[in-house]
Order: sequence, then structure tokens, then C-alpha cells
Amino acid sequence: NTISVATFPAQAWRNSFANLGDAFFTRLQPQALPDPYWVSRNHSLARELGLEENWFASQEALDSLSGNCVLPGSEPMASVYSGHQFGQWAGQLGDGRAILLGELLTPQGQREIQLKGAGRTPYSRMGDGRAVLRSSIREYLCSEAMHGLGIATTRALGVSGSDAAVRRETIETAAVVTRTAPSFIRFGHFEHFSYTEQHESLKVLADYVIDNFYPDCRDASQPYAALLQAVSERTAYLMADWQSVGFCHGVMNTDNMSILGLTVDYGPFQFLDVFDPSHVCNHSDNQGRYAYNKQPNMAYWNLFCLGQALLPLIDDQELALAALEPFKTIFPEALENKMRAKLGLPDSLVEDKELIEQTFSLLANNKVDYTIFWRKLASFTPQSGHEGLRDLFYDRESFNAWATTYSQRISPLDASARVKLMQKTNPKFVLRNHLGEEAIRAAKLKDYSKVETLLMLMQSPFDEHPEHEKMAGLPPDWAASIEISCSS
Ligand code: AMP
Ligand code: MG
Ligand code: MG
Repeated sequence: NTISVATFPAQAWRNSFANLGDAFFTRLQPQALPDPYWVSRNHSLARELGLEENWFASQEALDSLSGNCVLPGSEPMASVYSGHQFGQWAGQLGDGRAILLGELLTPQGQREIQLKGAGRTPYSRMGDGRAVLRSSIREYLCSEAMHGLGIATTRALGVSGSDAAVRRETIETAAVVTRTAPSFIRFGHFEHFSYTEQHESLKVLADYVIDNFYPDCRDASQPYAALLQAVSERTAYLMADWQSVGFCHGVMNTDNMSILGLTVDYGPFQFLDVFDPSHVCNHSDNQGRYAYNKQPNMAYWNLFCLGQALLPLIDDQELALAALEPFKTIFPEALENKMRAKLGLPDSLVEDKELIEQTFSLLANNKVDYTIFWRKLASFTPQSGHEGLRDLFYDRESFNAWATTYSQRISPLDASARVKLMQKTNPKFVLRNHLGEEAIRAAKLKDYSKVETLLMLMQSPFDEHPEHEKMAGLPPDWAASIEISCSS
């Protein structure tokens, strides 16, 4: 089913992953998505990647980005990885429904293009290789939401849909998310070659990651320990970002952890509505392993697995353990910095740590909506009565006590600089479950306007967008009954 696409230059592809060798992947063709149509396209990302507008609008773009034809120069494949799932060694997994088209050379650097939901691969196990419209829209919008918030993430060029039926708990329809990242390599890729004792390939993989993404590690006396440390650091910053915006990933298995410290594999994720530290967003996570407040520890646990996997390349265990240490200082420091910015504090005082902790407990005790609180706090002044903000709390006394402490802290600060800082650190819009759900319900009826509106809001979440006030409001009652599981 190869259609030649004259307008897309073959030399745009690099395909360095394809040069790693047969141990890393299986070459295969995507499975055509029957009669595809665009659900949404991400024009701003297309521009950033240097894709021509005319090409992006063409039938060829739809066909090639949904798996119905292969662009000249692309070498499609599925990669193999393994991983720990919910704390247990799961053995071999791999791209069970994601097909890598290759790497595009873009003005932003190399970008892998992956089709998620483009059919079965040798790693599909019991799966059908497909993705449904619902989860594809969620991944598409949330990766853009994270990017809009300034958080490291994979991104998506678009979602294509089809009327082809896909069986989950009910019959749904198929979709493909065309996603991009500098690399989709996961901790699980390293675990795969380590656990199967393919140590030569393990080294090839580590060298590939160092040469392409962590060149400074090459100059270290122990390049592989340096790589582990660099990944730990990026992961620590990522966790600070997640915690500060109230993002729950839902499935932090090692096969869903990016070696580049990107947010990857959007499944049962959720942005917190009320601030509940022990919130579990994944309906299938019965033990609460990936609860909001456990994410940083789970990331550390995953880094430990990565360290274990890299041991054959690192001279001694002490070095590997030492490479993980910085996580423990970087994460709390980075989170404190994020929270200080959300409080509008440009400088750091020793008592800020306590103020941040008090703020978290106050929000938790009063079950306050996380995003709304922070956004409203931007209009707090020591002089005002702060009724609007106080109304979010049951326990007015505790709020008053907190407001007094906060007022004292901000009184000496320049008010307009503080407000400016807060307006660019406290988003007005996040991809709440119910917003995604409303867009999905309409999309199932082929009305994609809500997807477009959300895409626009998520790409500029710090702007006011007064015409979309409702989408910045409290979730409706029915939002509490939304159950998001691993089914996708
Ligand atoms: P996840 O928990 O979504 O990250 O997926 C874990 C593993 O299951 C990965 O190897 C996926 O490729 C695979 N997988 C998930 N859903 C499907 C599906 N519908 N068909 C084939 N493989 C799948
Ligand atoms: Mg995954
Ligand atoms: Mg997934």
C-alpha cells in the first residue's frame, strides 16, 4: 500500500535508531486505518517542525500520518523494550501498537515520528494494535497541555480517526495519534538488554543516548554513571513540575519512563480537581501505587531499576548508587522553587518551606480546588478582604491565619511584579477530566469543535480567555464519577 509522496523530501529523514541493529526492533509496515479523517491537527507544532502548510493540508499528509502510506525515506519499525509494571518484573513488552516512522530533521533538532494505534506488531501480545478515539484525544490534548505549561513532554501532530470498530469494554472506534519526541527510548529499553544479558546491545543503546542527547556525559570519567545521574536529574525536575501543577500520570511503570525526562504515554492521567494528596487517578490501580503524593518516590524507584539495568556498564555498585543521590536533593529544591513562584515570591527565605507546607495542608484539609486556588491567589493583596478566596475554604479560621502569614511575607514585595510572576506560573486552564470527557463525547458524534477549543486553551493556559470562563470553573458534580482505567 505504498503511495509515493513527491512533496515530502526523503532527505528529511535521518533514521539513526534504525542503524542500531536488529536486536532493537522489527521492521514492519503500519496497518492502514480504514477511511481516515482528521479529528484534529496541531498546526503550531507542524510549523515548529518545519512541515509545509500545503503538505500538512494534503491527502498525503493524512494518509502518511495515519499509517495508510509510507513516506519516502521513512523506515517504519516497532522497538523492543521490557519493564517493571506495578512493581513487578513484566518481561518483554515493546511497541505493541506504536510504529516508529523514523526521525525527521527539523529546525528543532531530530524528532521521532510515531504512530500510536497503527496496528499489531511482534510486541502486541494479546492486544489488537489499535487505540480508540477517546484515549487518543486525551493523549493529544494532554501532551499539548503539558507543553503549554512548560513541562517536558512528547507532543502530537494530530489525531486521525476512522469508523472502524475497536473492541474494548464496549465497541468503540479506532484512531491514531501521530506523536513526536526527540526520542521515545524508555527506561524499559535498558532493562530489556540488561535482563536478557545482551550487554553489547546495552552498551550500543547507552552510547546512542549519550551521543545524541547527553553529549556531556561522554567526557565524564564514568560516562554511564554520568548518564544515570543526568537522567536522575531530569526526572527530578520533571517530578517537581508534575507535583506543582497537580498532574497525576497514573501508570508510572518503567516502560512509561522516558530516558529524556519527558512525560510519555498518556493513559489514565488526571489533573487534580480538589487537592487530595493521596488521589489515585487510575481506576485499575487498586493499591494506589501511583497516587499523586507517591509519584516522586515511584520515579526514584524507577531510577533505581534503571541503575540496576546499567550495572553491567558501570564499574561498581557504589558509583551507580551515588549517581541516584542527586535526585533526593534536586527534587525537593526544584519543587520548592516552583511553589515559591506560584506564591509570587521572587526570592527565597528560610521560612518559605514552612509556608509552602502550610499551604499544602490547608488546601488538603479544605479539599480546595487546586488550579482555581492558585489562579485566584494571583489577585490576593494584603489590603483586600480576600472574600473570593476565603469562600473556597470550609475552615475560615485556618484560612485567615494562613492569609495573615502570607500577607506578612508579601507585604514588602513589589505587587505588580508578584502578580506578573503568579499569572505566568498559575495556569487558568488545565485539562481536567470532565473537559476532556465533554470533548470526547462530542467527537464521538463527529463534532470536533470542543477538541479545537481545548487545544487552543491548553496551548495558552496562562492567558485569560474570558469567553471560556466556564472551562476554568469548578468541575460539575458528574466529574467525580468519571472512571479512567488503563483501557485505551
Ligand atoms: P501501557 O500500559 O499503555 O503503557 O502499555 C503497556 C504495553 O502494552 C506496551 O507494550 C503497549 O505497547 C502494549 N499495549 C497496550 N495496548 C495495546 C493494544 N491495544 N495492542 C497492542 N499492544 C498494546
Ligand atoms: Mg506504555
Ligand atoms: Mg499506553
